[in-house]
Amino acid sequence: MGISRRNFIKGGGLAAGTMALTGKPAQASVDSPEMRTKGLQVSTTVCPYCAVGCGMLVHTKNGKVVNIEGDPDHPINRGALCSKGSALFQVANNERRLTKVQYRAAGSDKWEEKSWDWSMNRIAKLMKDSRDKNFVKSETRDDKKYVVNRNEGMAFLGAAALDNEECYLWGKFARAMGVNYLEHQARI
Ligand code: SF4
Repeated sequence: MGISRRNFIKGGGLAAGTMALTGKPAQASVDSPEMRTKGLQVSTTVCPYCAVGCGMLVHTKNGKVVNIEGDPDHPINRGALCSKGSALFQVANNERRLTKVQYRAAGSDKWEEKSWDWSMNRIAKLMKDSRDKNFVKSETRDDKKYVVNRNEGMAFLGAAALDNEECYLWGKFARAMGVNYLEHQARI
C-alpha cells in the first residue's frame, strides 16, 4: 500500500506528539515483531546446521511453521543467527523439498520413488551384508591372539543436528555394529 508524503509527515508528527506527551513511544505498528508473532504457538529448538548450536524460536499456526528467528534468551547466540540459520524457515516450507525416498539402482539412469519400509529394509540388509563380510573377530600381534570384534567395512558420521541423547544412541549403535570409524561433523 502506497503512502503520500502528506500522510507520512502527519504520522511522524503524531508519533512525535505522543512521545512528547507521554514520554513513551507510540503504540507498536502492525508490522512490529511482537504483532507478527502474537497468538502463535512458540517452541524453542537448536539450529541443525553447524556446531555453534544457536538457539531458535519456531512459531507455528495450526501445526505449520510460519516463522523462525533467533532466541534472544539463548546464551550462545542471544537472538542472532547467521545467514544460513536465518533461512532455516525454507527447510520447513519449500516446494522443492524432497519428501519421498528417491532411489537410483546401480547402473540405472533414472530415479524411482520408494516407500520408507522398502528403504529401511534395504539399508538394513546392506549393513548386515557389509558387517558379515568385513567383521574381524581377532588379530595376532607379537605372537599373541587378541579378540577385537571389529567391523572394518563401515563408518558412522554424526551431525550437529543430533542432541545429547541422540548422540548417545548413535554411539551405542555404532559400537554395537563393531564400528571403529566413528566421527562427528563438528570435528571435521
Ligand atoms: S545459525 Fe549459523 S552459526 Fe548458528 S548454528 Fe546455525 S549455521 Fe551455525
